Amino acid sequence: MVDDLQARGIPCSECQAGIMHYRKITYLTWLNEDLITVPDFPAWVCDVCGRREYDGQAIFQLNLLLNPTAGKPTPAVRKHRINKKKPQQKRPRSTHPE
Ligand SMILES: [Zn+2]
Repeated sequence: MVDDLQARGIPCSECQAGIMHYRKITYLTWLNEDLITVPDFPAWVCDVCGRREYDGQAIFQLNLLLNPTAGKPTPAVRKHRINKKKPQQKRPRSTHPE
C-alpha cells in the first residue's frame, strides 16, 4: 500500500495543486548546538510548491539515533578526561566533641 503511494504520489496538502513525490533528500536538524545533516533521508516533496513532509517512521528512527539516552554511544564524542591516580588517601577523621 505504501509502495503504491510512493509510485503515484499524494496530493499536496499545502497548495492542493501539486503532487508530493517520495524521494530522498538531505535532512537538517539541530542537536543542541550542532547542525546534523542526514543524507538520503526519505521525504515527500511537492512538485509545485516544494513543501516537504518527512517520513514519520524515519524521523522516529533518527530521533532514536540522536537521543543520547538510547544506549548507543556516538563514535564522534571526544573525551578529555585523563585518569590520574589520586595521591590523597582517605583518612579516618577523628571527631572532636567540644
Ligand atoms: Zn504543494
